[in-house]
Amino acid sequence: MTEEIFAFDGYLTEFEAVVSATDGDWVSLDSTAFYPGGGGQAHDTGTLRGKAVEKVERRGDGIWHLCPGHGLEEGDKIWCSVNWDRRYELMKGHTAEHMLFGALNRLVPDMNIVKIDIEYDDKYVIVDRDVDWDIISDAVASVNAAVGEDLSVIRSSMDRDDPELEHIRAKLDRIEGNRISVVEIDGFDIAACGGLHVMETGEIEFVFADRKVSSGKEGYAIHFKVGSAAKKASSDLAYGCLKISEALNSKPSDAEKAAANVLSELNDARSMLKKAGRALVNTAGKKDFEGVTIRYGVLPADTDVLAEAAERWRSEGHIAVLATDSDPSSVILASGDARIDCKKILADALSSVGGRGGGKKEFARGGLTKGADPSDFVKKATDAVQRALSSL
Ligand SMILES: [Zn+2]
Repeated sequence: MTEEIFAFDGYLTEFEAVVSATDGDWVSLDSTAFYPGGGGQAHDTGTLRGKAVEKVERRGDGIWHLCPGHGLEEGDKIWCSVNWDRRYELMKGHTAEHMLFGALNRLVPDMNIVKIDIEYDDKYVIVDRDVDWDIISDAVASVNAAVGEDLSVIRSSMDRDDPELEHIRAKLDRIEGNRISVVEIDGFDIAACGGLHVMETGEIEFVFADRKVSSGKEGYAIHFKVGSAAKKASSDLAYGCLKISEALNSKPSDAEKAAANVLSELNDARSMLKKAGRALVNTAGKKDFEGVTIRYGVLPADTDVLAEAAERWRSEGHIAVLATDSDPSSVILASGDARIDCKKILADALSSVGGRGGGKKEFARGGLTKGADPSDFVKKATDAVQRALSSL
């Protein structure tokens, strides 16, 4: 059994211990300040007699340290050191996570926490729904106000069957043992948690949520930073927004509206372009050959519009050889005549003009390499179609 120093003192990182067992690269000690990870908080790193500890894990009631090349034997008395920089970042992150979720939960009372992950360089809490940035911003502001008040973080423990636990945020099914550790941030938040936290909120300095990512069915991960990394992220993003508002030619306070206008104008322009493209596709060349109509040409329309037209002509029994007037160009070959193998003709034409593509006998499409001439493709493919029709 390993005595767990971190359970009563998260700030003690230099200690003497006796090796209680070894197992290959793994070492177990009679007591340790190394946190083995758990409750969403990453494990510590550090050194055992100067040799790097890469990983720490709990096995039953023992804590094991992965320390390649340790050269230790049972009974050795050694000096151990936890990487304080990493540990302190994790403690600050973990405390900030309690505060952030507590603050979000006050704004959205029926929101649930799904998962947390507190790593040295990435910290997030997954909640069971999408959360508006305005709500995140309000929650972060109340967290930072509490950071400024330097509230005490008090740790206590309760029996698992204590009825008071009902009033405390807890995922009891994820906590082992009969004594439940409770972390109270004075007047701000209370939750059951076996991880490591700072003693006063002021140590966190600053909290900033800088990213929101969908995690599928689970909900949304809200990523955040603490301390100087949080200050830097908030400053960098603020300047990014100033640049965007300058590019949009708007005041920063109007940038959101200006961006929405630009997007809506872009969508209007796209749909107009599509309409124009549909009209232009009908100007494609037309020739009748061996009883079949061939529609061909390089057209100023996008590939979806060309595919739509090619599909229509194919269903009418015609053959279409089309390319977009762009660089690189997208090309389409479609045939409603069973004598033509579009996949093969497309592949042959692409290999001589340059490009890649694929498809089926009746419909194939691809893209030319940049700089390749789309009219060259149309000519080669049309010639091949005519050769195939006249040879049968
Ligand atoms: Zn915690």
